[in-house]
Amino acid sequence: MAAKVPGLSESGGASILVLGSGTSVGVPMIGCACKVCQSSDPHDKRLRPSVLLKLGAKRILIDTTPDLRYQALRAAIERLDAVLYTHAHADHILGLDDVRPFNFMQRHDIPIFASAETLRSLETTFAYVFDKAPTESSRPRLTPHVFDTDPFEAAGVRITPIRIAHGKGTVHGFRFGDCAYLTDHNGIPEESLERLTGLDVLFLDALRHNPHPTHSTVEESLRTVELLKPKRAYFTHISHDLMHATLEARLPENVHLAYDELEIEINWSPAE
Ligand SMILES: [Zn+2]
Ligand SMILES: [Zn+2]
Ligand SMILES: [Zn+2]
Repeated sequence: MAAKVPGLSESGGASILVLGSGTSVGVPMIGCACKVCQSSDPHDKRLRPSVLLKLGAKRILIDTTPDLRYQALRAAIERLDAVLYTHAHADHILGLDDVRPFNFMQRHDIPIFASAETLRSLETTFAYVFDKAPTESSRPRLTPHVFDTDPFEAAGVRITPIRIAHGKGTVHGFRFGDCAYLTDHNGIPEESLERLTGLDVLFLDALRHNPHPTHSTVEESLRTVELLKPKRAYFTHISHDLMHATLEARLPENVHLAYDELEIEINWSPAE
């Protein structure tokens, strides 16, 4: 008899697990003696930014950070059905090699989804991964898929790409059901705002209080929350300028600072 593959409906439950809530250098930052980097509060320990979508039996990873190995061990991730890429900055891609154990366990290629620009950067940064020549060493085995503006399916889940401004560049967030994850950005164009209505959960970049050329601040993200009115908002990509306990106490009731290992239950049905 063939092994039984758990179906979406029978496995039930859906959540977003925060694998990392920190900015590109992580918190604490190497060598920094500031009070957040020296904080003993576990909420102030932030790995590089990533979330795992647990949708029924499906596991969809957003970005492969330089901390992926530790994040996967800490969260006891046992399988990966797809990887979505927001953009190709180092803090979002450099752990790609750690997809290999999932290849070993699952014995098949892992589908990855990226914009054409992001895929080009991945192919350059990880030339050995995309090299078709035979090799004696193992390397990640991937099936690349390129998305543009249209919704696409990843591991049977409908994903809507959300174009957002990240400094001079355009990167992507993702909507799935009534949840959306928007990391690195400092602007949301009109047509993307239209894709972000009626949300239960919205993740937003909120680097710090002081303005930044490529990232949203706490105040800017609070304005985005006012505009889009999600039921719940979570700020991520947080720098060492923000002490969790101090800021969390001042945020509106439905807005929270994300933190590593936070798991948020969401509404999701396999049809979505
Ligand atoms: Zn980043
Ligand atoms: Zn610091
Ligand atoms: Zn970035």
